[in-house]
Amino acid sequence: MDDIFCKIIRKEIPKEFIYESENLVVFPDINPSADTHLLIIPKKHLGGIQDLTKENKDLLVEIYSVVNMLVKQYNLSGNLYRVVVNGGKAQHVPHLHFHLLGGVWKKFI
Ligand code: AMP
Repeated sequence: MDDIFCKIIRKEIPKEFIYESENLVVFPDINPSADTHLLIIPKKHLGGIQDLTKENKDLLVEIYSVVNMLVKQYNLSGNLYRVVVNGGKAQHVPHLHFHLLGGVWKKFI
């Protein structure tokens, strides 16, 4: 696929990852909406929530265990934080991704 996240995952566009596993990458959002704004992205191309099936059960468990790790790493648990998945017209990159936002909000996403 040709979306920007696929290109980053294939390393056609350079990007420093905060975390990488066989199935996921994590890097900061280029245009942060909060003090902490990380993107948790499956390497496998899924367009969005609408493409998830029961086959993706393990992937979803891995995503939330990485969110758990990041919440601890970024000391967000005593703070305000949120996990956001945009869809439909609210989604700008057509590749499933989870936003982890924490601290002071700069704008609505
Ligand atoms: P969404 O509207 O949920 O699809 O969000 C896409 C997010 O990807 C936006 O918050 C963008 O700022 C972010 N984004 C787009 N291109 C890049 C990039 N090259 N590196 C990091 N974040 C990006």
